[in-house]
Amino acid sequence: MGVLDQSVSLIKGVGPKRVEVLNSLGIETIQDLITYYPFRYDDVSEKNISEINDQEKVVLKGFPLSEAVVNYYGYKKNRLTFRMMVDEAVVSVTFFNQAFLKDKVRASEELAVYGKWDAKRKSLTGMKIIATSQGEEDFSPIYHVNKKIRQKTLVDLIRQTWELFQDEVEETLPNWLLEKYRLMPRKDAIQAMHFPDTVQDNQQARRRLAFEEFFLFQLKMIELKREEQKGEAGLSVQYDLKELKRLIATLPFELTSAQKRVVNEICADLKSTSHMHRLLQGDVGSGKTIVAGLALYATVTAGFQGALMVPTEILAEQHMESLTELFQQFDVKIALLTSSTKAAAKRQILAELVAGEIDIIVGTHSLIQEDVIFKHLGLVITDEQHRFGVNQRKLLREKGGNPDVLFMTATPIPRTLAITAYGEMDVSIIDELPSGRIPIETSWILPKQVDIALRNMQRLMKQGQQVYVICPLIEESEMLDVKNATEIYEHLADFFAPDFNVGLLHGKMKPQEKEVIMSAFKENELQVLVSTTVIEVGVNVPNATTMMIMDADRFGLAQLHQLRGRVGRGAIASYCILVASPKSEQGKERMKIMTETTDGFKLSEKDLEMRGPGDFFGNKQSGLPEFKVGDMVADSQMLEVARTEAILLWSQKEWWLLPENQELARQLHLEVTQMDYFD
Ligand code: ADP
Ligand code: MG
Repeated sequence: MGVLDQSVSLIKGVGPKRVEVLNSLGIETIQDLITYYPFRYDDVSEKNISEINDQEKVVLKGFPLSEAVVNYYGYKKNRLTFRMMVDEAVVSVTFFNQAFLKDKVRASEELAVYGKWDAKRKSLTGMKIIATSQGEEDFSPIYHVNKKIRQKTLVDLIRQTWELFQDEVEETLPNWLLEKYRLMPRKDAIQAMHFPDTVQDNQQARRRLAFEEFFLFQLKMIELKREEQKGEAGLSVQYDLKELKRLIATLPFELTSAQKRVVNEICADLKSTSHMHRLLQGDVGSGKTIVAGLALYATVTAGFQGALMVPTEILAEQHMESLTELFQQFDVKIALLTSSTKAAAKRQILAELVAGEIDIIVGTHSLIQEDVIFKHLGLVITDEQHRFGVNQRKLLREKGGNPDVLFMTATPIPRTLAITAYGEMDVSIIDELPSGRIPIETSWILPKQVDIALRNMQRLMKQGQQVYVICPLIEESEMLDVKNATEIYEHLADFFAPDFNVGLLHGKMKPQEKEVIMSAFKENELQVLVSTTVIEVGVNVPNATTMMIMDADRFGLAQLHQLRGRVGRGAIASYCILVASPKSEQGKERMKIMTETTDGFKLSEKDLEMRGPGDFFGNKQSGLPEFKVGDMVADSQMLEVARTEAILLWSQKEWWLLPENQELARQLHLEVTQMDYFD
């Protein structure tokens, strides 16, 4: 272990308290600290107001002429305003929905505000108040901090640490790569991330570090695949084709040709001794569950056990239900194991699992607990794979003699990203919906039109149909989510009383409470279900034909699409109503696209084009690897180059023994063992 891998407590002046604060930012080692890069740079050069372009983002320094005034308006919205003397001019500053900044604005105390300049009105729409001392450099790095540590404190700490430890930084990339792509040395690059001399300097640093990230990632992916292949051979699941056909014949519908194709692909994997590592992608409603059921049954006919792991209890119960129905006339024993399974029942399930009496087990995280032991596990399927970390999946896989693994996901990842994101995984795609589906009709309305929409819903409910109302995600706080959902729930309960019953579902409820509400909705005891996004994945209530999504512009397109997939599951026409008043052109464009297409792949490509993957996939749910510096979209060409070079390197025999590749090999090995790149 090098010095840089030591804890930050080694740094002078960093005591236990500081260590804790740094840990809260994800910084544990000295290495973490010096590679904790700014997420943006502000141009804080002092500009004359007349030089600033309209809509340009700038930092203005000045003296407030008075305290800030806060006005509350509309639905939980507020506006904070004050006037500020900047040089000789009076500028008006407005912050939206940041009333908490009020205390920071004091008359005649110097202040620096970062925001967008409106040249005509001579006003600034504030985004952030920054420490005035930051204005010392023209191109000032801004770091993510939290309540426990200030920007300036962190900058000072990084500077001090850098001065002491910069000589410990080793080059990771071999010379031939540095030369081939004219990349900056690692040490210079880190320095230019924190303390750039020029913008160009900083861009070169980014380029170098992004390349390194991509390259190491690709090397690791290839290594993993090789490990898996050289390990013990996968199982050969000799399933009974006749039996499988007998099951297919009992289905109330014909499989789509896409379903047939992917079932064939999966079956070929099952039979072969090579290890299955396959991703099944299919849009919401494309019929993945039945494919999973068929794969599990094939496994059972070969005398093996199958496991289906899902992220939520509701989903587990639902899969349990569909599978039970699927196997009605077949001799298959299925069990459900979740954290609410009672101790006695659990004991029995575990015993039957070891004894091989249970053929298929459906469950949540409970399936990867240590006490869950299989007799002969042949196939593991995880639904909505992005919710599980790689480690969790690995644990489950290790429960058997190297069973085949199938990941299912409805997140339509654009093809261009899929290769890089899923690396060496095989991909099956269901690119066709069952015939006879009536496409969901999506409309976009403004908040003031909600009551009209509610009356339309009432009409549909009188015909016996049911409705979802989805409440926005408020990123800052789960408590706000709940409060907001509760308010909407109360309003609707009032609106629809006494003819219809309204239920509420949110993330803070206990699993049992959720279950009660969910089953009441399924039984049509509740006609309206108000919910935060907990219903996002997999819920199947075909009688629910309308979904209204409040503040729809707060969601990514992919998530809207997922949510929308909860309706349109039956034979009746269904509707999705987006309620939003986006301000930007792009926001409007996004709502429009939703009304124009129901094709998840098209949406994902469109969204990617407009906003980049981070925005599209939302926070950490994407299943895409996260890079510190690299941007999979903006730097996609570099990603390709890194991939090509990684493949080339692995094609050289024992490349890791060459002296020039030593540091690379060390990095790779170190990281591979700690890696959890899908989270
Ligand atoms: P998802 O891919 O979102 O998991 P599901 O497996 O839940 O989709 O399928 C959605 C609905 O479509 C279910 O009610 C299922 O029974 C039905 N379904 C699946 N395949 C077909 C098919 N080939 N023809 C008609 N209906 C189908
Ligand atoms: Mg599903």
